[in-house]
Amino acid sequence: MARKVYINGSLVDEADAKVSVFDHGLLYGDGVFEGIRVYGGRVFLLKEHVDRLYESAKAIRLAIPISSEQMIRDVEETVKANEIEDGYVRLVVTRGAGTLGLDVRKTSNPQVIIIADTISLYAPEVYEQGMHLVTAATIRNHPSAISPRIKSLNYLNNILAKIEGTDAGAVEALMLNHKGEVAECTGDNIFIVKDRVIRTPPPDAGILVGITRNAVIRLAKEAGYPVEETALVRHDIYVADECFLTGTAAEVIAVVSLDGRTIGDGKPGPITRDLRERFQQLTRDGG
Ligand code: PMP
Repeated sequence: MARKVYINGSLVDEADAKVSVFDHGLLYGDGVFEGIRVYGGRVFLLKEHVDRLYESAKAIRLAIPISSEQMIRDVEETVKANEIEDGYVRLVVTRGAGTLGLDVRKTSNPQVIIIADTISLYAPEVYEQGMHLVTAATIRNHPSAISPRIKSLNYLNNILAKIEGTDAGAVEALMLNHKGEVAECTGDNIFIVKDRVIRTPPPDAGILVGITRNAVIRLAKEAGYPVEETALVRHDIYVADECFLTGTAAEVIAVVSLDGRTIGDGKPGPITRDLRERFQQLTRDGG
């Protein structure tokens, strides 16, 4: 079946889903996006993702031309039209076409794009054995320059760190903030477990406040684990009992080493495995 892509209210064949070369999304990374999972034909935590999209858009002074209620209906319709049972949705809003200058007053028609696709995950053995991480030399953008909480189309910061990770043979890379504290990975949030207490950097550590992160914090508290949002440095990870990442694509995945230091006993830990199971149950329950 040919994929149907939603663009500005219409579902068109993939080959016909096009934007202008003058679009500020292309010229300047001027736009916002979301990545969302579909489980069992249901779009997982859709309202949370749409809310974050509208907050990102507000922060960059981009008026999305449709309401969030309409956006939710359009995402669901795009998933249905593509008969996606388990997959991934990419929701993109660009500033629209303008001139070659920066002035947004010369742009018009923000482009709203919804792509419903299948998803390629980390290999099953990475979930079973855990992931090896390295620290990237590239730090997170300074939060006073551009808030890392905005999920913008400009992902160069993360892409550079990801290149450093893949160069070192790692599938993810840890990123520090401008203070040298742990922030997050290139596309995932990070947690540690020490003496049965779960810790993760707070929003002001310069992270994208992940929707999976928030769901896992909620599940952990419901399960009776103490959870602290607190500044972490790499040493805390080296000496942790367990470490794991959360993200829309990765879900919950164990980390078993950082920069050549084995974490805990080098295997996915019991609390990580418990939270992964609880998260998978939540995906089956529909959020
Ligand atoms: N941090 C960054 C930089 C990301 O790109 C993502 C993935 N969107 C995450 C964290 C995880 O966020 P979420 O759980 O909302 O996918």
